[in-house]
Amino acid sequence: MLGHHVLGQVAALGELAASRWDLAQGDWVVVEEYLPCGQCAPCRRGRYRLCPDTDLWRGGRRVGLVPVSEPPGLYGGNAEYLYLSPNSVPHKVPEGLAAELAVWALPLGNALDWVLGAGRLEAGETVVVFGPGYHGIAAAAAARHAGARQVIVCGLERDQARLELAAALGATPLTLSGDHLVSAIGDLTGGSMADVVLDLAASPPETFTDAARLLGQGGRLVLAGAKSPPAASVDTSALTRLTATVVGVRGRAPQRVRQSLELLRGGGLGLEKVPTETVALSAVGTMLDRMAAGTGPDTPHVVVRPWQDRPARERS
Ligand SMILES: [Zn+2]
Repeated sequence: MLGHHVLGQVAALGELAASRWDLAQGDWVVVEEYLPCGQCAPCRRGRYRLCPDTDLWRGGRRVGLVPVSEPPGLYGGNAEYLYLSPNSVPHKVPEGLAAELAVWALPLGNALDWVLGAGRLEAGETVVVFGPGYHGIAAAAAARHAGARQVIVCGLERDQARLELAAALGATPLTLSGDHLVSAIGDLTGGSMADVVLDLAASPPETFTDAARLLGQGGRLVLAGAKSPPAASVDTSALTRLTATVVGVRGRAPQRVRQSLELLRGGGLGLEKVPTETVALSAVGTMLDRMAAGTGPDTPHVVVRPWQDRPARERS
């Protein structure tokens, strides 16, 4: 059952679940995709994403990837109902935060972890983001909100519409690569180059090579997008000279989801400017085919509304 970034309303819950999660029927919740054991060393440190039970790389289970054959067959967001097993990680959506913005909670939580945590962004610094997908857009918004002096978002020619969205959030869009990109970042930063570079592009390894060339003194390169093939060329002497940090990231810490929800409620991130493409349950297959073929919508923000097909009387 697909669907791993889930927002929903509690339809029913038992007493134990209510007290354990501090939730009541009717509450809106964001559900993380992790299904951690809650007892191993990473879990005890709150690092659920690294729990073997839910680690994709070690055959773990997570919301959106459990087969429908496993009872009750409701472990994904692309369905009218989602079953929360006892090891689920739900977060209550604060009062006053509309569902349209709350659906950003997990991608923005990732972006906050990558920009502020791994990237250690400080106010006044320059950030470059590779890949204007929903994570890239959220990262640009997070960086602006954290006081970055300059946010530059890099994409391909075909990403023009998404780069315009990044520009609407206050970022500078670029469609350059290689020497042209390095020289443009040099011009934009007065030669000091970037403090934080996020490589979020699912692309050939050349973007990583380019990303490393954009670092300034003390720069941090954050890598989230898997490359194919995985090996990339990088100037190791430059990394040493620049006292640079290269850090790989996966998912987010639970406190970043809470921070994300609070920031969304407070407003000012600008993510409401990103158009939402809504998909009914019956149209999910077609949408996934379009995205795989590269003919998906211009906006990176695609939301499945499982109840959209149902008459209103069935929804209550
Ligand atoms: Zn665990």
